[in-house]
Amino acid sequence: MTSVGDALRTAGVERLDGQLLLLHAMGVPPNELAVRRAWLLAHGEAEVPGETLAQFRQFAQRRADGEPLAYITRHKEFFGLDLGVDARVLVPRPDTELLVQWALDVLHGPKAASDAPSPTVLDLGTGSGAVALAIRHTRPDVLVDAVDASPQALQVAQSNALALGLDIGFLQGSWFAPVTSCYDCIVSNPPYIANQDPHLAALRHEPRQALVAGPDGLQDLREIIRGAMGHLCPGGWLLVEHGYDQAVAVKALFELAGFVAITCRRDLSGHERCTGGRVIRDNHQPLVK
Ligand code: GLN
Repeated sequence: MTSVGDALRTAGVERLDGQLLLLHAMGVPPNELAVRRAWLLAHGEAEVPGETLAQFRQFAQRRADGEPLAYITRHKEFFGLDLGVDARVLVPRPDTELLVQWALDVLHGPKAASDAPSPTVLDLGTGSGAVALAIRHTRPDVLVDAVDASPQALQVAQSNALALGLDIGFLQGSWFAPVTSCYDCIVSNPPYIANQDPHLAALRHEPRQALVAGPDGLQDLREIIRGAMGHLCPGGWLLVEHGYDQAVAVKALFELAGFVAITCRRDLSGHERCTGGRVIRDNHQPLVK
């Protein structure tokens, strides 16, 4: 007989990961994990049935091979939402909640009058839909469109939108290629890792297309920052996430594109992780390129 305590001790993964994977093997749904984890902690002597143990050992092996926990459990919590994720999309990172919070800050309060137009947001490179869904969930009055080049990623985002009952306009294509209107706020967590970066080894289970952006990691950010001007309403904001050491370069790209009020926000480790700027434009310039 194998007890909960023995199973966890011999799993070869970090304790918390082991606990969550054992609960997953036991069929515990994501919303009950916290409560059932407390049960697990108090029942180290309880026996783990043979089938559950075999399943748990498989999960633990995958985790030990570097697969993200979220791909094994197929769930990830982001901004209080339970998202379905798998290897078709990047696992949403807690640091990206910063981008969501910033977008919510620039969208101001609810509409002033019932006949005022709804604020509009565009999420570029939506992946699992995390950023778009978090904004729409917090501000149901905001119209949110979301773009991804990967049809596989869009399938994941669409099924998350359906499961959460949130209405998002999905567009497939590369950055602004499928975009025809202008927005009050454009947000993006694009790929920003240089193609030779040694960190990529640890991220090998995630889609390379969602991580890597040319020799300096700035290829997609350049395209987004340059293209955003043509798709922002007057006074609109562009907010992007980038690498921990890219803030200076990204700020320069914002300046080059003609943005004003350019600032950075720091992530949970204190790195300048997001940069944002605003467009002030005279009425003679076209809104859409
Ligand atoms: N921040 C992620 C990481 O370093 C990368 C996300 C991205 O490229 N957009 O793991």
